[in-house]
Order: sequence, then structure tokens, then C-alpha cells
Amino acid sequence: MSFKNFAFKAVMNALYFSGSHKVLRPLSGGLGSILMFHHVREAPNRDFAPNAHLTVSPKFLEATLKSLRSSNIDIVSMDEAILRIQNGQTNKPFVAITFDDGYRDNAEIAAPILRKYNAPYTIYIASGLIDGSANLWWDGLEAIIRNQDKILVRSQAGAGEIECSTPKAKRKTYALLLEYLTNDLSEELQREWINEYAAHYNVDLNSMLQSEMMSWDEIKTLAEDPLCTIGTHTVHHYALARLEKEQAVAEISDGAQILEAALGEKPKHFAYPYGYSLAAGRRDFEIVAELGFASAVTTRPGIIYKDHQPHMTALPRISMNGHFQKTRYTKVLLSGSPTFLANKMRRLNVK
Ligand SMILES: [Zn+2]
Repeated sequence: MSFKNFAFKAVMNALYFSGSHKVLRPLSGGLGSILMFHHVREAPNRDFAPNAHLTVSPKFLEATLKSLRSSNIDIVSMDEAILRIQNGQTNKPFVAITFDDGYRDNAEIAAPILRKYNAPYTIYIASGLIDGSANLWWDGLEAIIRNQDKILVRSQAGAGEIECSTPKAKRKTYALLLEYLTNDLSEELQREWINEYAAHYNVDLNSMLQSEMMSWDEIKTLAEDPLCTIGTHTVHHYALARLEKEQAVAEISDGAQILEAALGEKPKHFAYPYGYSLAAGRRDFEIVAELGFASAVTTRPGIIYKDHQPHMTALPRISMNGHFQKTRYTKVLLSGSPTFLANKMRRLNVK
């Protein structure tokens, strides 16, 4: 566990056990929250698992739903969440449940649990991850480092071998290359890099997509479920803020058009890939609003306030993170206290 996770857990435990999340609530409590999930499945117990935050267990999803159903909270679709934000409805808080990317376990594992609790949910699909024009580069990078004891790396600074034979060295190598791929290289060069390295180190990115992502047929079946809303998540899962405006517009509108062609319905809801401040910013929030989407969600942490009414394309979410699989953490997060504190006691983080 990183120090950051450790420290955040300590804060959440302190808030929970002191009951001060309830004290802070009148200050920080809002209209509701949007929960963000990725994978729902059993995660292998590994020392080197840099993407473990993206997976929660079926048991945790079920415990979350059970806890929501036994509290004074409505589980609502994104359409209903939007209405409640626009109406400033405060009598009963809402939670909207969302999943990013389009993983097969969402259909096979999460959907039956959601059905059991009659809970609406939204899945944001990145079309390129379904039709093979994008890749799961973060999983590819993990697989390359897992399989190798050393990796030959070339950069503008020169070439050198990185030793990565132990779990600790693998974690360090992953962090180093992640930094290089997300900061030093453009989004397109990042994908070229991963394609080249995956080929060199025998990691099959295509079969990874086929086993991890839903097919169009599976998405179509899921879309027929009245509990399910399909939203859009661009084509190539690029960090939009790192693209020229024209390319960002194309990523957003092409992704929606491809979904419309496949499913026969135009998606109304959008999720920014990555969504942290440097991956999606004000320019992107404006593009999505101009393209007419009803809502767009970031990964910026926070709950929803009435103040978000003029910022429907910059909505924060609460991450259901693999490192925080305890319903007491979820309770504290939904109170808005930790994210309110993390946002320096501001309700809005929309710039
Ligand atoms: Zn995503």
C-alpha cells in the first residue's frame, strides 16, 4: 500500500470512528454522489499489482448495495441524477452507480448483483477498446514488467536497462514508465511505445482486449436491460487535455457516433478517460457541453452539490477503489467529508 493510501485510510477511519463525518455532514453534505467502478471480480493476490485500485470484489459491490439499500439513499440512473441536480432535490440523497471502459466482468459478475438489488447503473464504453483500435496499455505495461527481470528502455536521454526482478523493483519500474508514458510522450506515441514493447516482450494486447472487454453483442444484450444505461468514453481512451482541440472533439463525437451505430441509440452521458485535472480540463468540459451531452463525469473526487447545476459536464465522482474495500469507508466518502477536506473545503473543483 502506498503512503498516500495509508494516510487516506487513516483519515477515513478517524472520521468514521469519531463520528465526525456526521458532524461535518451539514457543511459538506450535498445532493448525492456518483460512484465509479471499473472491474468487479476476484483479484489475484499478487505482490506486484499496480492496477489493483481498478478492481473490487463481487462481495464488496454486494456489501455496498446492501448498505445503500438499508440507508436513506436512492440508487438512481444518470438520467434521474441529472433531474435531481437540476431540481436541487435535497429531501433524500441519491447515488448513481457507474462503470468505466466496458469490461466483461461488468456484464457477467456485476450486472446480476445489481439486478438482485434492482439498482440502475451506467457503463461508459470506449469504442476502441471494443473494436480493437485502442488498447489496455496500463495492463499491457503491467504484464510486460511482470514477465521480465529487466527491460531495455530508450528515451531522449539515452538507452539503458532497468532491473525489475523483485516485486519492489517492478513497482518502481511501473511508476517510472507510467510517468514517462503519461507525461513525456504524446498520447499517440504512448500507444506506439506500448505496441512496440508488447510485441518485443511477447505480450498479446489483442487477446487481452478479447478476454477483458465486452463484445458489441454483449453490450447490446446489456443495453436491453432497463437498469442499464450505456454512456460514452471516447474512441481511443486518450487523455483529452493532452490533445489538440480538433482531435479532442473528434474523440468525443466519434465515440458517441460509433455507439449510436452499434446500439441504435445516441448516448447522452459521457465520462472523461482518466479524468484527473491534467487529463480533462475546462476546454474539454466546454466541448462536451457544446456537443449536447446531458452529463459528463470526471474522476475528480467529490460529492454533488446544487452548485454543480451550471457544471453538468464536470461532475465529480467517488472512486470505489480496490484499496478501500470496506463499507465504512464508503459511508464516510458519501458523507462528503473526506473529499470536502481534500478539495480544501471547497464544494466545486471544475476548472
Ligand atoms: Zn476509462
